[in-house]
Amino acid sequence: MRQVAPHLDADRPRRFHLLAKPTGARCNLDCAYCFFVGKGNLSPGGRPRMSDEVLDGYLTQLMEAHPDGEVTVAWQGGEPTLMGIGFFRRAVERAEARRRPGQRVRHTIQTNGTLLDDEWARMLAEHHFLVGLSIDGPPEVHDRFRVDKRGQPTSARVLRGLGHLQRRGVEVNVLCTVHAGNQHRPLDVYRYFRDALGVEHIQFIPIVERVPALAPGRPGPSERVTDRSVDPAAWGQFLVSVFDEWFPRDIGAVFVQLFDTALAAWSGLPSPLCLFGETCGGGPALMHTGDVYSCDHFVDPDHLLGAIHQVPLAELVASPVQRAFGRAKADTLPATCLRCEFLFACHGECPKNRLATVAGGEPGLNYLCAGYRSFWGHVDRPMRLMAGLLAEGRPAGDVSAVLAAAGRNDPCPCGSGRKAKHCHQR
Ligand code: SF4
Ligand code: SF4
Repeated sequence: MRQVAPHLDADRPRRFHLLAKPTGARCNLDCAYCFFVGKGNLSPGGRPRMSDEVLDGYLTQLMEAHPDGEVTVAWQGGEPTLMGIGFFRRAVERAEARRRPGQRVRHTIQTNGTLLDDEWARMLAEHHFLVGLSIDGPPEVHDRFRVDKRGQPTSARVLRGLGHLQRRGVEVNVLCTVHAGNQHRPLDVYRYFRDALGVEHIQFIPIVERVPALAPGRPGPSERVTDRSVDPAAWGQFLVSVFDEWFPRDIGAVFVQLFDTALAAWSGLPSPLCLFGETCGGGPALMHTGDVYSCDHFVDPDHLLGAIHQVPLAELVASPVQRAFGRAKADTLPATCLRCEFLFACHGECPKNRLATVAGGEPGLNYLCAGYRSFWGHVDRPMRLMAGLLAEGRPAGDVSAVLAAAGRNDPCPCGSGRKAKHCHQR
């Protein structure tokens, strides 16, 4: 999932948010739902590692493609910390050596956290890394699917890593996948992050895992999902429950990426997340070999754009193939989405999840549609309220004061239609 998804626009300078995978698909864990396991056959050789030559080429091309403003150097896996701390020190030094005046470099890394110690935390703090840390909830929830190669639980090691990061003041964003193992425990999960771990930034990521095609050679993946996948209705209810816990008490204190994204949509702004953008294609994936793919959810031979030692990165991202990939997100929407009142916020979500068939036989509806519909509908009025405050130049957090100022017997300003005393003044 991209944090930033620039729309493809021939008239503007091209910015993109690439995810680099320095160990390819290699990881020290064996999480049951990982979509990247099985990608090893795309990177033959025992222990994939990005060479310093690829690192240099990547950083040079990335920095040249974003000559001013902010450029993000984003590492992901597999498990990137398997590269060792020295690799990231070199990456920071080499990015700095290529930095022009006026260029700002933002370093990010997504990790399972199990290999982090104080030395890592000091390095990450020194260079202001934003760390995306995968935690699925309280230990008994997390350990359901996030296990190591021996099938052993990993929560204790992850929490030890988080402790190192927090002691050094590293900016941490918890990445929580939502699946069959935690879909009915939204408040346990959210409160655990907020209250037990003191986390302020949270991303919820739905697990939609397709069953492989039934027979070798049969085209396309199956339309069925595994039992581990989140149920569409449960996904919607999960988001609704967390939203009701968050709104309005945690606004400004806890940042839930999906809620921020919704607020952007209700404010008429482009989505900061590729998932909910009109088009995509601005978030390619770079493998350790230098091969670039359309997206980290489409690392397969059909979506190989080329290699950076043959074609510059900026050209690969701007290529007709990649532009067509990005436009297809809008061009392939089913009529159900085109008629949907929440299209402006949802845009059919990610094409990788569009595996449902609409009644009547039209394919291409998002598997999670029912959940998104109920969530968008639930947050519509609160989002309008917050967007209205923003339009007046006030912070969205002022919504607490607005809700509190209503008379107890007046309609709640959230728009629920209930009396305030039975709604947000309870
Ligand atoms: S396919 Fe598009 S929307 Fe989905 S993750 Fe990739 S870039 Fe984002
Ligand atoms: S809520 Fe459903 S119908 Fe509406 S845009 Fe999203 S996926 Fe399409």
